[in-house]
Amino acid sequence: MSDTSLAAYTTLRLGGPAGTVTTAVHTDEAVAAVRSATSAGRPLLILAGGSNVVIGDDGFDGEVLLLRTRGIEAVAEDASGVLVRVAAGEPWDDFVAHTVANGWSGVECLSGIPGAAGATPIQNVGAYGQEVAHTIEAVHAYDRQTDASLVMTPAQCGFGYRSSVFKHNDRYLVTAVDFRLARSGESAPIRYAELARSLGGEAGDRVPLRQARDTVLKLRAGKGMVLDPEDRDTWSVGSFFTNPVVPADFFATLGEMPHWPAADGTVKIPAAWLIENAGFPKGFAGAGVAISGKHTLALTNRGTGTTAALLDLARTIRDGVHARFAVELHPEPVLINCAI
Ligand SMILES: Cc1cc2nc3c(=O)[nH]c(=O)nc-3n(C[C@H](O)[C@H](O)[C@H](O)COP(=O)(O)OP(=O)(O)OC[C@H]3O[C@@H](n4cnc5c(N)ncnc54)[C@H](O)[C@@H]3O)c2cc1C
Repeated sequence: MSDTSLAAYTTLRLGGPAGTVTTAVHTDEAVAAVRSATSAGRPLLILAGGSNVVIGDDGFDGEVLLLRTRGIEAVAEDASGVLVRVAAGEPWDDFVAHTVANGWSGVECLSGIPGAAGATPIQNVGAYGQEVAHTIEAVHAYDRQTDASLVMTPAQCGFGYRSSVFKHNDRYLVTAVDFRLARSGESAPIRYAELARSLGGEAGDRVPLRQARDTVLKLRAGKGMVLDPEDRDTWSVGSFFTNPVVPADFFATLGEMPHWPAADGTVKIPAAWLIENAGFPKGFAGAGVAISGKHTLALTNRGTGTTAALLDLARTIRDGVHARFAVELHPEPVLINCAI
């Protein structure tokens, strides 16, 4: 193990030492690092913004690749739209700001999400009624199994709710992502009721891109969902649990609670509501860790926490929700060398 603590590379500021660390600023360096770890049979961890990983206190005894490639390029344009290629290491919110500044519509409601562009396909990043699956046209990747680069269609990416073929699968290095965006000074139709209300309108409205971005950033900041080193409510992975999706006949046995229709007649329940109503309020604390004071779904490191303590808190919440509602909560982040 090296002296490098992985805590320095995660938004939770948790995680033990790395085996070795390589930083790639060019795509070919990243591919070379992945190829060499693969041929040496050495465990590999690709890390970009570190905002969706929980790394064990024992760290990761293998090769850690820090992805720092940059670049945004309009590769095709016509009167209605633009195809934009973004390097995997490009900070996601810099890209969103760039699209808004250029009058490219389609990802404005995903403002303020931490991490890198290349990580967005991994869990089909989504918020405020948009998800990257709505605008991704292609994902450029290096396939460790075949030692070849390829371009994957959205169907090949298998996007679902906070999921894709890339999640919990170390076969691919995403090297760049192509987004198809509309050329318009206005947002895509607003789908999320809370955002529409904040914009003073209703679902289906279009608003200037800048206004959509600013309103999303304000809403997110109020929930501790925009990174701020001074604010420990943001020392998190965002939502720790996904919203459970249950069969309709099971949902009918649960009693009154908020819900939305989901795919194939299933029902999606807000995990935050389940957690609060199982007796875990904002601020509920463990050893050096706590539920954020601003958002029930964010588990945070208060500065003295450990991954073990964070996962203890997660287990307590998961088991408490199960005891009260018989609904299973599943973690949204990728757990590295640890488990709940
Ligand atoms: C305050 C806060 C708010 C958040 N809000 C949201 C939200 O609203 N919606 C949402 O969906 N998520 C949200 N997240 C979660 C997170 O920001 C996103 O999932 C983000 O896309 C992760 O990017 P990253 O670069 O930090 O990925 P990392 O944490 O570095 O990596 C996450 C996983 O993806 C893999 N990976 C990363 N890059 C690549 C690549 N190029 N090729 C192959 N594998 C790769 C890693 O190996 C790991 O398994 C939030 C997180 C925080 C801390």
